[in-house]
Amino acid sequence: MKICVLPGDGIGPEIMAEAVRVLEALELGFEMEEALIGGGAVDATGTPYPEATSRLAKAADAVLLGAVGGPKWDTLPREQRPERGLLAIRKELGLFANLRPAILYPELANASSLKPEVVAGLDILIVRELTGDIYFGQPRGVEERGGERYGFNTMHYTESEIRRIGRVAFEAARKRGKRLCSVDKMNVLETTQLWRDVMTELAPEYPDVELSHMLVDNAAMQLVRAPKQFDVMVTGNMFGDILSDEASMLTGSIGMLPSASLDENNKGLYEPSHGSAPDIAGKGVANPLATILSVAMMLRYTFGREEAALRVEGAVKKVLAQGYRTGDIFEPGTSRVGTRQMGDAVLAAL
Ligand code: NAD
Repeated sequence: MKICVLPGDGIGPEIMAEAVRVLEALELGFEMEEALIGGGAVDATGTPYPEATSRLAKAADAVLLGAVGGPKWDTLPREQRPERGLLAIRKELGLFANLRPAILYPELANASSLKPEVVAGLDILIVRELTGDIYFGQPRGVEERGGERYGFNTMHYTESEIRRIGRVAFEAARKRGKRLCSVDKMNVLETTQLWRDVMTELAPEYPDVELSHMLVDNAAMQLVRAPKQFDVMVTGNMFGDILSDEASMLTGSIGMLPSASLDENNKGLYEPSHGSAPDIAGKGVANPLATILSVAMMLRYTFGREEAALRVEGAVKKVLAQGYRTGDIFEPGTSRVGTRQMGDAVLAAL
């Protein structure tokens, strides 16, 4: 049971330290090894995803990542930007399925910008395809054509790519509320007509799951109008990028949301949904709970340790109930704590 630990940039090392403490406290015998990714890797080796990191990630059963990026590296050539390291590791490990839960803990209902009655008890899972679509499609670029600059990208999906993400989503729905909403733009984009057709063809294999379809513009509206109508949503890379950020914001705190990216054998990369938060990096105030909840997802999806996953999630619920809050989720009447103290509270609750 090998875990490759990639703290990354900004608040990455601070939140990762707490997640590692939680893993150690569980005493499950994991072997952990750390490596460089992102801006720190660029500084040390000239590339955001060095060979040594790639070797370690490939040999591990799971990868736990903090976050990458920061203003220091924003002006580098595109190939050397920290975010390229993320695209590279996802592609290399074949992580085609991104699972992002958006859960609103009752104690944090006021943190949402929506009315508490609209979001209280929210529990949705967005399954996003991660290695295809317009983000990876060729040809792409900006060229001079007809005396002006011309930008172009290519959206494409094969039916096998759609089928494998569809299966992940149906399986996930089966373990939850048994409702799956597939999101596309079939009225305009042929690629997504194929998406809808393949999802519909898969449905008979999962008679216990109720499949519905929704156009992406409507899905974006419904997420803010009545988000609790959804259980699991499945969509392509670009729509999923946008909708999963929208869904995470319904909960009011990106500092609380974990994510998992899986390959076909449940090997996974686990990371908080937020970025490297350069504005608060080094201050010891970042919320480590999204990373700690990513550990819970890792225990569940890669290592099949449901009981340990529930223990970690239970500890997080307990510290919220006890009133501990980092700055991002602080409200008057609760106890404001820093990153390390939040980690201490989770360890105590464990
Ligand atoms: P961000 O998620 O880093 O920060 C957005 C806001 O949320 C900031 O105000 C930040 O302080 C706050 N925030 C985020 N995580 C928090 C936490 N755990 N606790 C408390 N507050 C938290 O997004 P951004 O500012 O758009 O991006 C900053 C950098 O992160 C950029 O370089 C971007 O490219 C990178 N990024 C990386 C990832 C990743 O590593 N997966 C994802 C998104 C952005």
